[in-house]
Amino acid sequence: MSASHVIIGDGIAGSSAAETIREEDPDADITVITDEGEALYNRILIKEFAKGKLPEAPISIHEPEWYEERDIDLQLNTHVTTIDTEDNEIHTHEGTVYEYDKLLLATGGTPASLASFGIDNADAGGIDHFWTFQDARSIKENVEAADQGIIVGAGLLGIDLAAICGAQELDANYLMRGECWWRYALDEEGAEILHEAMRERGVTPVFDSGVSEFETDDDGQVEAAIDPNGERYEGDWAGVAIGLSFNTEFLQDTPVETNDDGVVTDEYMRTNVDDVYAAGDLTWFYDTILGQMGQNGSWGSAKEQGSIAGQNMVEDLEAGGESDDPEEFRWVSSYSITHFDFPFLSFGHPTIGDDDAARKYSDTEWRRLALNDGKIVGGVLIGDLSQQSKFKKLMREEREVAQHKDLLLEEDVDMDKLEEATPKPE
Ligand SMILES: Cc1cc2nc3c(=O)[nH]c(=O)nc-3n(C[C@H](O)[C@H](O)[C@H](O)COP(=O)(O)OP(=O)(O)OC[C@H]3O[C@@H](n4cnc5c(N)ncnc54)[C@H](O)[C@@H]3O)c2cc1C
Repeated sequence: MSASHVIIGDGIAGSSAAETIREEDPDADITVITDEGEALYNRILIKEFAKGKLPEAPISIHEPEWYEERDIDLQLNTHVTTIDTEDNEIHTHEGTVYEYDKLLLATGGTPASLASFGIDNADAGGIDHFWTFQDARSIKENVEAADQGIIVGAGLLGIDLAAICGAQELDANYLMRGECWWRYALDEEGAEILHEAMRERGVTPVFDSGVSEFETDDDGQVEAAIDPNGERYEGDWAGVAIGLSFNTEFLQDTPVETNDDGVVTDEYMRTNVDDVYAAGDLTWFYDTILGQMGQNGSWGSAKEQGSIAGQNMVEDLEAGGESDDPEEFRWVSSYSITHFDFPFLSFGHPTIGDDDAARKYSDTEWRRLALNDGKIVGGVLIGDLSQQSKFKKLMREEREVAQHKDLLLEEDVDMDKLEEATPKPE
C-alpha cells in the first residue's frame, strides 16, 4: 500500500514539502489542504501588487495544474478544525476526514489585531491587516480611495504598508512605539536612514506613540487614531502590522507541544508526537547555529524547512520509525526590503544577543551586527550588502568574533585576518 502524506497549509513551507515528498517517493499519496481560495502564490510580492506596481498574474506561483501534474491532491477553501493523533486523522470544517501516515503542520500565522490588546474599534471598516493576497487586494483598493492614512507596527510588514502609501501618494502618519523604526534590530542612527526615506514619500514617522483607541464615524468607518499621549491623528484608512498569532487552534486537544511562538520542533522538523512534523513560520525549532530554540519568519527559511520536513517524513516512514540519518535544518535566514533607493537586508536573528557592533558609513550606508556569547547571531545591512556572505559564513561557522569589532566594521571585511584570529570550532 502506498504511503499517505497530508500537509496542512499551501504556503511556501507546505508546498515545498509536497514537492520534495513527490521527488522522494513517486508512489506516495499526497494531500495538501489550505483554507485559502488560491494555490501557492508569492507572498513577498503581494506588497508590489498593493502598491499598484504589479498585476495579479505574476504573483501566482502554482496553478492548480502544477498539483495535477504531480498527482498531488490540493484541497482549497478547506479549514482543518481538529486532528486526532491517536488514530492519525484530520477533520475539516465540512466534516471530511483524512487519514495520514505522516502529517505536516505548515499553517503559518494570522496577523494579530489590536482588539486583542483591548483597543476600541480595532477592527472597524477601513482598517486592514496584511498577510494574504485578499488582504493585499483590500489594501490596494482602500489606500487608493483614502485621503489620509495611519500605519501601526514598526516592523518589517509595517514598513511595507508605509511604502504602499508612498507609492500610492497617500500621506500617512506612521505611529511607532519607542524612538525609531524596528527598535529591537536598529539604533536611531540606522533607522533615521529609513525615516528620511519615508518622509520623502509623504509618510511621517511619529515616535513614542502607538494607538490607544480608533475613532469611527456613524457608519463604523475609521476616522482617527488616538495615541497614548492623547494626540489625535486623522485617517480614513489604517494599516496595522503588529505581529502574528500562530495558527495552532486545531491542535488544542492534542498532545502536540505548542507555545506562544508556535509548534515546538527539533532540528529535523519533528514535533514531540510520532508522525507529526511542522515547518515554516509557525515553528519554534531547535536552531543548531544558535544552540537554542529560535524562530524564523522568512520565505527562504520556510521553504527550506518544508523541504527538510518532506525528506524526513519519507525517510522516517521508510525506516519504520525515526531514521538514523535525518536531514538537519541549519540555515541563516535573510529578509530584504527593496522599497527605497538603497538596499536593506536583515539576516539571522538581529533582535537578540548580549552585545552588538554598529557603524554608519554615509547618509545611506549603515551596518549593525548582533552578537551573542561572542558570536554573530544576526545583523542588518543598509546601503551596502556586499559583505553579507562574509557575515553569514562567520555566523554559520560559529566563530567567536566579538573581540574583533574593528575588523567586523571595516567597510571591506578582511576575512583572512578574521579567520586567522578566530579559529572555527570543531
Ligand atoms: C506582505 C508580506 C511581505 C513579506 N515579505 C517578505 C520578504 O520580503 N522576505 C521574506 O523572506 N519574507 C517575507 N514575508 C514573510 C514570508 O512570506 C513568510 O515567512 C512565509 O510566507 C511563511 O510561509 P509559511 O508556509 O510558513 O506560512 P504561510 O505562507 O502563512 O502559509 C500558511 C497557510 O496555511 C493556511 N492555514 C492556516 N491555518 C489553516 C487551517 N487550520 N486549515 C487549512 N489551512 C490553514 C493559511 O491560510 C496559509 O495559506 C512577507 C510576508 C508578508 C505577508
